[in-house]
Amino acid sequence: MSTTWVYRFDQIDEAQEFVGGDWDRVRGLLGGKGANLGEMTRLGIPVPPGFTVTAAACNAYGTGNGTLSAGVWDQVIDAMRVTEAQTGRTFGDPSNPLLVAVRSGAKFSMPGMMDTVLDIGLNDEVVEGMIRATGNERFVLDSYRRLIQMFGSVVMGVADEHFERVLTAARERAGVSEDSAMSVADLTGVIDAFKSVVLRRAAAPFPTDPLEQLKASIRAVFESWEGQRAQDYRRAANIADDLGTAVNIVAMVFGNFGDDSATGVAMSRNATTGAPGIEGDFLVNAQGEDVVAGIRQTRPIEELADVMPEMSEQFTQIAQRLEGHYRDMQDMEFTVERGNLWVLQTRDGKRTAQAAVRIAVDLVAEGVIDREEAVSRITPEHLESLLHPQFRASAKADATKIASGLNVSPGAAVGQIAFDPDLAVRWSEEGRSVVLVRPETRPDDVHGMLASVGILTSSGGRTSHAALVARQFGRPAIVGASELKINLSSRIVSVNDDQFVEGDWLSLDGTTGEVFAGRVETSDPDLDDPWLAQLLGWADEIRTLGVRANADEGGDAQRARQLGAEGIGLCRTEHMFFGVDRLPVVQRMITAPTEPERNAAVAELLPFQRHDFIELFRAMDGQPVVIRLLDPPLHEFLPSRDELQSQIMDLQLRLRSAPDLATMNELLAQLDSATTLLGQVDSRRESNPMLGLRGVRLGMLYPEITRIQARAIFEAAAEVAAEGIDARPEVMVPLVCEAAELAAQRAVIEAEANAVMAERDIEVPVVIGTMIEIPRAALVAEEIAAHADFFSFGTNDLTQTTFGMSRDDAETSFLSNYLDRGILEANPFATLDAKGVGKLIDTALSSARTLSPDLIAGVCGEHGGDPASIALCHSYGLTYVSCSPFRVPVARLAAAHAALNARDSVTR
Ligand code: PEP
Ligand code: MG
Repeated sequence: MSTTWVYRFDQIDEAQEFVGGDWDRVRGLLGGKGANLGEMTRLGIPVPPGFTVTAAACNAYGTGNGTLSAGVWDQVIDAMRVTEAQTGRTFGDPSNPLLVAVRSGAKFSMPGMMDTVLDIGLNDEVVEGMIRATGNERFVLDSYRRLIQMFGSVVMGVADEHFERVLTAARERAGVSEDSAMSVADLTGVIDAFKSVVLRRAAAPFPTDPLEQLKASIRAVFESWEGQRAQDYRRAANIADDLGTAVNIVAMVFGNFGDDSATGVAMSRNATTGAPGIEGDFLVNAQGEDVVAGIRQTRPIEELADVMPEMSEQFTQIAQRLEGHYRDMQDMEFTVERGNLWVLQTRDGKRTAQAAVRIAVDLVAEGVIDREEAVSRITPEHLESLLHPQFRASAKADATKIASGLNVSPGAAVGQIAFDPDLAVRWSEEGRSVVLVRPETRPDDVHGMLASVGILTSSGGRTSHAALVARQFGRPAIVGASELKINLSSRIVSVNDDQFVEGDWLSLDGTTGEVFAGRVETSDPDLDDPWLAQLLGWADEIRTLGVRANADEGGDAQRARQLGAEGIGLCRTEHMFFGVDRLPVVQRMITAPTEPERNAAVAELLPFQRHDFIELFRAMDGQPVVIRLLDPPLHEFLPSRDELQSQIMDLQLRLRSAPDLATMNELLAQLDSATTLLGQVDSRRESNPMLGLRGVRLGMLYPEITRIQARAIFEAAAEVAAEGIDARPEVMVPLVCEAAELAAQRAVIEAEANAVMAERDIEVPVVIGTMIEIPRAALVAEEIAAHADFFSFGTNDLTQTTFGMSRDDAETSFLSNYLDRGILEANPFATLDAKGVGKLIDTALSSARTLSPDLIAGVCGEHGGDPASIALCHSYGLTYVSCSPFRVPVARLAAAHAALNARDSVTR
């Protein structure tokens, strides 16, 4: 049987049967737009007749070096004949012409990335016939000039600016500001000028044969799949290159027929906040691209009810029906032609992260989807953009507001003005923060938009290109800030009496639509969004993996708890040693020549440590707090060798010119202590400190450090218990590689804990565990487990030691080369390496659990906040992951996704 390359919209049943019924595969074959046009036709929603050339034909076109496969064109002609019969019009017939739109449509929507040509089928004769038939000369001529402009630029490659120049001149000559106000004579002049532009710039005339126009347009859409801007978009949105695009040929309906006609774009809910109610823009007497391109100032969709009440009512009903059918917020294009409503497109609407969360939660309340589906619809990226900073209220109150526009993508952005996308990319590569400022954006600006922290346009509506792209990629954006006068040639933006040049700073509040001069201070995001709390609550019900936070002080711990952490998975006590009041004591402890001197210094540290632990226990009342004993090599607390040497040289120089004996004595004393310190630094120098005297080895050589830390922990627990706080310390020994190490440290900790409990006459559960962060520890996990109440996999060190790659150097040295060449698929310090490190975790856990089946085991390396690694942690049966406080919501969601995916794969 020969291949079917073309399906009419009313043949959606056949297309679905061909792919075996699966809707996702229908979308693959017909593209998202084509599949939905077919589906709407099946539902009885008014869709203009037409047909889809499959994405398979596009792929065959690409592999066939730019030729249409055998059968494609014949099937197009056959489908055209049926479309003619359905519309009662004939393609190319001047007395009753059918005009068509050719629209691209890939499986995943790529707004404005590929090409569309409208009004195909017009030529001089057809134009005359249509004028006779419609009696509306202005409308027909306006359609004709649009065809020549679109066909000229999209199919024949003439830069659009040549056409825009003609239009601007014609408007000026006619003294009008909008195209719709141009007279018949003005338009006739424009058409002639457009034809000359095509002839001159493309070295070929505009083709008069409608079939030739159609064929060339289909080819142009196929070719646009390989265009630069489509490729850039695919890379940014992670869309596969081999999907191809389908082409939809749709009978034209006209929103530019007169004042009883209109065109619009609308979402079934608010795409910025997710609030219920249709949101969108429309224009009377215009074609679709006028709305999307942001060239004319659009009207809000609510006003459609004033202008065309019946159409507004009908559209609202269709929007609700489509939303119910697709079980998601829809983004629709419609046209009203002389009192008849047509839906030209529907698709799942792009939305901000905030809207995504609210819509998912509301759809559950409305009974459309269940909680699990709501959770699975929110991605970790959504949460990341919800964690965007906002402006500090006080800073904003003092800032100079210069303009306002539509708040289409939330968050605060502070950057330097760049007027073109290439400059935005260059500056951002130099590490500068850029705000892209344009009259409007176009698909070929996307690279610059992605390189910018914020986007500001002076025209366009909520559904403009700038708004869609900004929302999708989580860039704060304001569009339609019409007070701005942007002069791209002099590279100045003026607002009232102020002028800003390229490189000046602006601050955008994408949440409110306000534009401020200069740099406004930002603050952490507000996470009290009730819909987010609800959704994360559902994620908590679904997930089985616990989520704790890595936090070293009370403030961090409080924030972590607010964000949903169920305890602290790692408190790195060394971070408490670096404070200005503590470091000298720590240095004294390290450099003490005798044990009593060391004990004295250690004892001085006790109150500091106890205070820190008290704060943590208060914040985490009733939840576990894993406190790790001192881990880094001690020399990290001493001054650098180079600094000491130059200090010594400086002292020696000053000594030579010392003016008196007293100064000389003072300098000699300083020199003496600096030289002693240098000796101590030298004596502690290790060629490979990461593999040297650190972790448990410190506690083995200096048990007084372990003792004092244990005392601080249990004294703190006793102290807060008196306040009624339920402190649950878990003492963790780092870098163990041999069971005997843990046994020895355990004895020290237990003895000190018991001593404190006896002194204070109080019982605190003594929980002692270890980190598994060296391959040998993983391999002898069963022996280690005999002395451990819990394990925590330190995947930072475990990755470093398993790969034999320095965690401090690899990423800036050879690792990017490995990643570029595909030697490694992912950075193992960011995403857990399942084959090696993951296998060690899995093996260690299984063998340890043969001895202690209920052993609690977590991951506390950076991987604990990475969604792909979290899925692996779930699969190994770990008890929890621990990550930085701000990643906690992401980890809660990712853990729920892991549970859902695991359940799905079992069902499958
Ligand atoms: C680890 O090694 O994974 C870990 C959490 O400890 P640190 O990063 O402090 O070495
Ligand atoms: Mg470590």
